[in-house]
Amino acid sequence: MRERSANRQKLPEQTLQTEKLAELGRLTAGIAHEINNPLAVIAYAMELLRRDAELTPFQVEMAVRIEDEIERLKTLTESLLSFSSAREGCRRLVALNDLLEEVLRLIRFELQRQAVQLEMELGELPLVAADPNQVKQVVINLIMNAVQAMHGEGKITLRTAHRGDAVELAVSDTGPGIPENLRERIFTPFFTTKAEGEGTGLGLHICRNIVNEHGGTIVVESSPRGGATFKVCLPVAQ
Ligand code: ADP
Repeated sequence: MRERSANRQKLPEQTLQTEKLAELGRLTAGIAHEINNPLAVIAYAMELLRRDAELTPFQVEMAVRIEDEIERLKTLTESLLSFSSAREGCRRLVALNDLLEEVLRLIRFELQRQAVQLEMELGELPLVAADPNQVKQVVINLIMNAVQAMHGEGKITLRTAHRGDAVELAVSDTGPGIPENLRERIFTPFFTTKAEGEGTGLGLHICRNIVNEHGGTIVVESSPRGGATFKVCLPVAQ
């Protein structure tokens, strides 16, 4: 009984929270566009300068710094834009194991460069109805977070399994793990423990948005001995 009334009180709060997030999304997208326009002009001006001017070594050094910062800003605006997009995407029937193989073809080189070992334990799975690009985005995000947490040394294990009316993907690493008091906070927008310029704190929030829009869940498990496991569940296609 008590639980029920607590739930009822929670509802308007949740709606408010959703509205606030939607507003934040619109604001963020607006800012990202406003930054993108002058940024494109700066990038083009820089390209012309590089092409037509005889630059001294000092000027070349400064040009490289400007170009690096332009790239950094571009990455930031891209993640701000994907954070704000609550698009439905285009769904079709997806074989999760095949999608994992595709993702690995894209990032295997990066894993090898970082000397990260990869293990796969793929179960037999039914199809899910999903936007393959969005699911790839989730998988890449989880794997790259694991690589970064392990500082390029350790093992990542990808497991898939059929669990009732859902398929589960678990991404485990041998990194430091995540303290219990942060296990929910890491999914909130702009939460990051990474150095400035390395993390936006939007990755996991976007992952959760995507997974929830697919009717699924994403949670993290971690033990004090270290290592984190992110579990993504997606409903089996009807
Ligand atoms: P970002 O990677 O930009 O910081 P995320 O939302 O992807 O943003 O991650 C938020 C935070 O969650 C990270 O800064 C890090 O502290 C923590 N985190 C994510 N994945 C892992 C992991 N595999 N092991 C340890 N910490 C992690």
